[in-house]
Amino acid sequence: MTRAFNFSAGPATLPESVLRQAQEEMLEWNGAGASIVEMSHRGPEFMAVAAQAEADLRRLIGIPDDYAVLFLAGGATTQQALLALNFAQPGQTVDYVLTGHWGKTAIKQVSPYVTVNVAASSEANGFHDIPARASWQLSDDAAYVHITANETIHGVEFRDTPDVGEVPLFADFSSSIASEPLDVSKYGLIYAGAQKNLGPVGVSVVIVRRDLLERSGQPRADIFDYGSHVARDSMLNTPPTWNWYLAGLVFQWMLAEGGVEEFARRNAVKSGLIYGAIDQSGGFYRNEVVPAARSRMNIPFFLPDDTLNARFVSESKAAGLLALKGHKAVGGIRASLYNALPVEGAQALAAFMRDFQQRNG
Ligand SMILES: *Cc1c(COP(=O)(O)O)cnc(C)c1O
Repeated sequence: MTRAFNFSAGPATLPESVLRQAQEEMLEWNGAGASIVEMSHRGPEFMAVAAQAEADLRRLIGIPDDYAVLFLAGGATTQQALLALNFAQPGQTVDYVLTGHWGKTAIKQVSPYVTVNVAASSEANGFHDIPARASWQLSDDAAYVHITANETIHGVEFRDTPDVGEVPLFADFSSSIASEPLDVSKYGLIYAGAQKNLGPVGVSVVIVRRDLLERSGQPRADIFDYGSHVARDSMLNTPPTWNWYLAGLVFQWMLAEGGVEEFARRNAVKSGLIYGAIDQSGGFYRNEVVPAARSRMNIPFFLPDDTLNARFVSESKAAGLLALKGHKAVGGIRASLYNALPVEGAQALAAFMRDFQQRNG
């Protein structure tokens, strides 16, 4: 068996040791006579797995006690819609800072319920930058301000947490959570689909300041109510137990590897290798994002023409470098460098890029 280096944007590569442990535990978990995926979510076995995963995530990210942590089905897109239902009155204004594709999705999901003020947008320049905080037109009475911490498709990332005063800051961290130290206390709410940096698709993590759960929001069924999920420890209905378990193994792996400080170091090394190969290519490879806003997680880049883009994708795949085709909204190539992608993967890609340029430049 040869596991290739997998640059998929999501669902994304997982640590090999985690997959091996899951494989070992697939038929029987911990002497229980059954797999964890075959047991009741309310039984002592899964309850312990769930509690351990939450405790490990709290330690990994440094989540203060006045924040609740939820493990929910539905993906990041579902959380985007729930933000309006839980935290804004019908028709109330919410402020969104638009820096790419996923910011657009976030706006689309709340538009039936609230009045969206796009406080700042980089759409006119092709989503190549983060608008300066001083240019944001925030509302006086917004229920919250929403940002996308890392735009997975456009490859732009907030490198600082913006100060929005007393209004709670909500952030989509789907593609950069646990990639570096994070000051949770600067946010009202953080959400992330697991399938980029945390584990398998099918579970989302929501980190919410508890006082915000007292907001009345909008009429909604309890299955859409974060407070009800908190009250029932994310077990209001059957949670995605397998995904939760596997994410828990990823949290343990990240802690054992040295935690978010170590991943910040590795992610800087990995992204530095790829941006280096781009910037030293004399224009053969092109990344269009303003350097200060470049993502460490997702790097879109272009070759001189589409024939070369296509050749790069097929030859890299043959060389054991998977899933480098760019998203259709942007085209070109995209390398995703999540925590579970080893430094050796970025080294192999940078070497491949130099070799490909020599042969085709
Ligand atoms: C992948 C992604 C989403 C969508 O996640 P789903 O789980 O498919 O709903 C939202 N935001 C960002 C930043 C993403 O990377």
